[in-house]
Amino acid sequence: MKTGKKRIQGRDFLFNKLKTIASLSILTGVLLLIANADETFNLYKVPYILIIAGFVLLIISLLVTNHEKHLLCRIGLHRFVQVDRDSEVPALFVYQCERCGKEKKAMKSF
Ligand SMILES: [Zn+2]
Repeated sequence: MKTGKKRIQGRDFLFNKLKTIASLSILTGVLLLIANADETFNLYKVPYILIIAGFVLLIISLLVTNHEKHLLCRIGLHRFVQVDRDSEVPALFVYQCERCGKEKKAMKSF
């Protein structure tokens, strides 16, 4: 049982690294796109490949490292509904995800 948990932590560590690589890949792709717009370089499809590959890697690593039941929640797309108001700060509202129950506090947006 103990080793099983350790294995999951090791896997999460690996995919957290992958998340960083994926983010860097997207960032590089975006920067190359901006540079390409200046027509300094002619990189054809390289920026798009970097961005798409980065996104795919990012979603895969999010799906593996997050443990929410719903797939959309795992990639951070929660469906928040307002459930309460903060007891100490009146401007803060408490939101809860309909699917996984994750809570967050936020200022009400108008
Ligand atoms: Zn959720």
